[in-house]
Amino acid sequence: MSTSLLYHGWGIRGYQYVRTSYVGGRAIFTVKPDAFSVTCPVCGSNDVLQHGCIHRLWREVPIGPKPVVIQMGIPRVECRKCATIRQIGVGFADERRSYTRAFARYALGLSRYMTIQDVARHLNVGWDLIKEIQKSYLQKHFSRPKLSKLSQLAIDEISVGKGHKYLTVVLDLTTGAVVFVGDGKGAEALQPFWRRLRRSRARIQAVAMDMSKAYIQAVRKNLPAATIVFDHFHLIKLFNDKLQQFRRFLFNQASATEQKILTRTSRNQ
Ligand SMILES: [Zn+2]
Repeated sequence: MSTSLLYHGWGIRGYQYVRTSYVGGRAIFTVKPDAFSVTCPVCGSNDVLQHGCIHRLWREVPIGPKPVVIQMGIPRVECRKCATIRQIGVGFADERRSYTRAFARYALGLSRYMTIQDVARHLNVGWDLIKEIQKSYLQKHFSRPKLSKLSQLAIDEISVGKGHKYLTVVLDLTTGAVVFVGDGKGAEALQPFWRRLRRSRARIQAVAMDMSKAYIQAVRKNLPAATIVFDHFHLIKLFNDKLQQFRRFLFNQASATEQKILTRTSRNQ
């Protein structure tokens, strides 16, 4: 084991290998930060005084069936520039996580082919840890999608559950991704979306929607240059509703004999 294997095997850079121990069937690699990694996490200055360290363990990608753990004392430093005392940042793991970034990437890679339970069993960890890794990945990548590349949108409302709760959903028509979900329906639900869209400076060419006046007005006001397109589903639905109304109108106008014929004809259709 060596510092270069730490880097090439597990992608740990800026840390030196200290020793290996084997406890409870696990290989524990103790590492320490390079001198240049000991800097102030607030301002980045290396003019710092060390005040002890806090020992921690991180789950690392296993060697075959053998679990691997990284152990390190995280130095607490006093910065002479900004006068704060903090732990230094850890380059190979996210804050407050008990696993390294490489471990998370490995678990996510396996999750594409295996169930959460399978991944947890293979990595010798609990089901909830794999779930947490997947959740934080989804949050990081999808909770606030970038709007700057948007050009074609679709706006629609959906009802949730049996009650009268509605959500307004905005889709990127090019990718099919949901880019915004607003509480309620109508123009108000879209207010936070317009604010984010303005900040992103996206150039919207077209917006597909149903024929609700509230949406039409909101889009005209916030995206005056965009073309409004009524989507296929809502057009056909409206057309069918009108046709049905027209049928009923004709039926009511007809004489009793004609009504009988009409009823027979529509049954045979
Ligand atoms: Zn500082």
